[in-house]
Amino acid sequence: MKIGIPRALLYYWYGFTWRTFWEEAGAEVVVSGPTERSTVAIGSKAGVDELCLPIKIFLGHVRQIADQADWIMIPHLIKVETGAYLCPKFMGLPDLVYHALPDVRDKVCVVTVGPRNIDMLQSLKGAALMVGIPERQIPKTLDVNNRLPALYELAKSGYPRQSDLQRGRLRIGILGHPYCIYDRCFNLNVFDKLNGLDVDIFTPEMMPGNMLGIGSGRLHKELFWSLGRFQFDALEWMIGKLKVDGFIHLSPFACGPEAIIGDMLERRIKQAGLPILKLLFEEHSGEAGMVTRLEAFIDLIHYRSRVC
Ligand code: SF4
Repeated sequence: MKIGIPRALLYYWYGFTWRTFWEEAGAEVVVSGPTERSTVAIGSKAGVDELCLPIKIFLGHVRQIADQADWIMIPHLIKVETGAYLCPKFMGLPDLVYHALPDVRDKVCVVTVGPRNIDMLQSLKGAALMVGIPERQIPKTLDVNNRLPALYELAKSGYPRQSDLQRGRLRIGILGHPYCIYDRCFNLNVFDKLNGLDVDIFTPEMMPGNMLGIGSGRLHKELFWSLGRFQFDALEWMIGKLKVDGFIHLSPFACGPEAIIGDMLERRIKQAGLPILKLLFEEHSGEAGMVTRLEAFIDLIHYRSRVC
């Protein structure tokens, strides 16, 4: 049995976990390839205009993998931690797929991590039974905290690398959702460009586990979005422990939660006296404009570090 997994959305957090589960259950796993311009074009054609770019990319991956697998695993992630939720588009993901791609409907295998059962292993077990895997073959334990796909994507651009403080290399904190940070097609290969500018970068997924809940816990009001909480935890880690020189925030155009979270992040960064570059991406974003802005931003931080 071949299980297809789209390389999109929270694949960059849970991809290793999902893959390990299905392989241990005896299935062959097919992961769609890295996002390409054709993936974006297919997803944009299938989805309605109002969808954010990451969801269109997800649809493109589902379409591209549909002919290579017996089942396509659609993660229906409502809640992955207590007290916070994922955005409504994650909650409606199976319906979005059914309506945008009706021809793949019969192959869809939904893994629901819901408000009552936020246990990833239990949710996967239910899906495995649904596709006909015998109970005795289903794994009993699972590592859900391994963010290997994210770190693997970083490694492709030569990160993370050992910080060389003697040479005074700049430290840049990257903020954003994992599918904005690690999808190289989405962000027009921002890490390759930064590597060429000789800076060290730090992403939320590099944060040690003991920093979880610290930054978001200092907010006046509790945040209900898991991806927003995670960014605030990472922000405090980067400001307080890493002492980064500036931030780059990567976000999709038309993302509801980021419209609020992005503004809150910016206020906190300005309060800390640090510069921030906000990069918004949509289907028609161009590389030339982004490179110019990146270079200008890094030059500005160099200049700032010399005169301050
Ligand atoms: S959080 Fe934003 S980018 Fe992510 S799926 Fe929701 S609307 Fe799209």
